Amino acid sequence: MALGEFGLIERFFKRPARRAVVGVGDDCAVWQPGAGMQLAISTDMLVEGRHFFPDVDPFSLGHKALAVNLSDLAACGATPAAFTLALALPTVDEAWLAEFARGLLTLADAHACELIGGDTTQGPLNLCITVLGEVPAGLALLRSGAKAGDEVYVSGTLGDARLALLALQGQLRLPDNALALARQRLEQPTPRVALGLALRGVASSAIDLSDGLVGDLGHILKASGCGATLNTQALSQLMLMGSSASAAPTLALSSDQALTAVLNGGDDYELLFTAPATSREAVMQAALKSATRVTRIGQMDAQHGLRLVDAQGKPVTGEFASFNHFA
Ligand code: ADP
Ligand code: MG
Repeated sequence: MALGEFGLIERFFKRPARRAVVGVGDDCAVWQPGAGMQLAISTDMLVEGRHFFPDVDPFSLGHKALAVNLSDLAACGATPAAFTLALALPTVDEAWLAEFARGLLTLADAHACELIGGDTTQGPLNLCITVLGEVPAGLALLRSGAKAGDEVYVSGTLGDARLALLALQGQLRLPDNALALARQRLEQPTPRVALGLALRGVASSAIDLSDGLVGDLGHILKASGCGATLNTQALSQLMLMGSSASAAPTLALSSDQALTAVLNGGDDYELLFTAPATSREAVMQAALKSATRVTRIGQMDAQHGLRLVDAQGKPVTGEFASFNHFA
């Protein structure tokens, strides 16, 4: 290694401490939470081959490594504060590291989230970030607060990252402009931090969508002891590139395939949340305040399990529903 471990840290990752009591350079970082605040802590690891392609551009990788962690803070309604970075690198490629650090620290600065420490070692490319956020005591949004009758919402658009993945794997052909949009969603997701903050005291439960809507909503259902019914008409509006019957053919995608990408895509990093029906106005205010698109997609039921209805409220059953894990 031309640049040793410490030279590398010094060059790419060490910056003057801002809010940190102690930042990069000692045995521990030291962080003083604000008065009356609790720390929300989350870790996400990105492994080459599993979470990203070996040739992904390093700026995007730096962005995404932090974005997926900030998304967890958003889901808890926590304000980003600081993070640590554990990095295994096969070689020291300074150009690669410079771009990686730029992607990482640009997003960090946009959220005033300070890099306060980490670990650096040689090995197969692997990135692990632990993020700290602050939330007023007792106000963290959890998976467990939803009640029957609450309404279900999702932020942004869903399924785009899935389409990008299928296209990059050669399983789907997308026009260049659609591929560029979809890749942006896959490689540089936007963590919905401002929306998470605006939903404190409004949402009854929340989760961020990393594994796909159906699976992640399942976590809310289990933690909250409810079921839910989703509306296919609302869901069909959720794909950025248009999953409506009219737009799908231009993507060589059936509307069922499009809906499947929305329901089971994964890598969306949008917020899924619930709120009482009486809070519709407050939810729309939160969406406006955070300049984030929010769509109501269904409601929570006392009856366990997940159901799908069409625009007329008729149950959707059969192969499509069972393939997508609906009761
Ligand atoms: P120790 O051996 O005491 O665990 P290290 O020698 O691994 O400490 O790291 C030296 C300092 O550099 C520590 O403050 C650590 O948090 C920080 N550090 C190591 N790797 C990174 C990294 N990739 N990004 C930011 N800080 C890092
Ligand atoms: Mg160490």
